[in-house]
Amino acid sequence: MIYTCYEMVRDCRADLPEGWTHFISHYVPVIRKTLAHYAPQRAGDSALLDHILLAIRQPGSFILQSTEQPEERWFVAQVRQLIAAELVAPAPEIPIGLETLTAALEPFTMTEKQAAWFETMHYSPAEAGPMLRVSPETVEKVRDRAAELIRGKVDSWRRTLLAENGGALGREAAAAAAQDCLPTKAFLDVVDGRTAWPNREMMDRHLRACWHCVDHFCRMLEVVHLLRGSQPLSEAESQPFRALLGVAAPRRTGWKRLIGGA
Ligand SMILES: [Zn+2]
Repeated sequence: MIYTCYEMVRDCRADLPEGWTHFISHYVPVIRKTLAHYAPQRAGDSALLDHILLAIRQPGSFILQSTEQPEERWFVAQVRQLIAAELVAPAPEIPIGLETLTAALEPFTMTEKQAAWFETMHYSPAEAGPMLRVSPETVEKVRDRAAELIRGKVDSWRRTLLAENGGALGREAAAAAAQDCLPTKAFLDVVDGRTAWPNREMMDRHLRACWHCVDHFCRMLEVVHLLRGSQPLSEAESQPFRALLGVAAPRRTGWKRLIGGA
């Protein structure tokens, strides 16, 4: 029997151990991977991981508040946003806002904007290329062009400007939702190859003018990347996290009891 993410969230909301046990075994590895990317200097910091898990577990967290009917990729995207909010980056020395990006990257297509945006999310061309289904060399070229265009719009500049402003730009983009912005499902349909051409064209047009959706789309591609090859924790590996979150050991289900004789 498949235990879906929807059922997990439902059980977590009801504070049932099944929900939290599944959350720990399946999503601690994803959270680790996310932290390794966004806080590489704190890679071995178990207190940071514990802090994130406790933030998700607390009654006021998004899991218990959201009214969406979550599928796994939506869920991981929420977890990623919670991590981003917890990892407060130092204020950039040379702040740039979305307005500057809009002016500088006006000639860019949707994919070119995404290639540039992934730099704000600290992904190298080698990582971003496969996510966008273009070559790393293409990403590199787009970024070089983006850098020159941005340079023409700011008073002081350096090559690392986008990455340094990543946290602030991500927050600005997330808050900039407009009436006609696309829902998560629209991006997942593209990822799953379910989007018909007219919709794809409409999306291209919208994203050329909307950083909120460029960011949203990039984050959904990131989620697919974060989930790829992720292996659940064993019961023994999960144990310290169950203790941390105060989750009772899982009861054995019927057939396991029969087979295991426990
Ligand atoms: Zn939008």
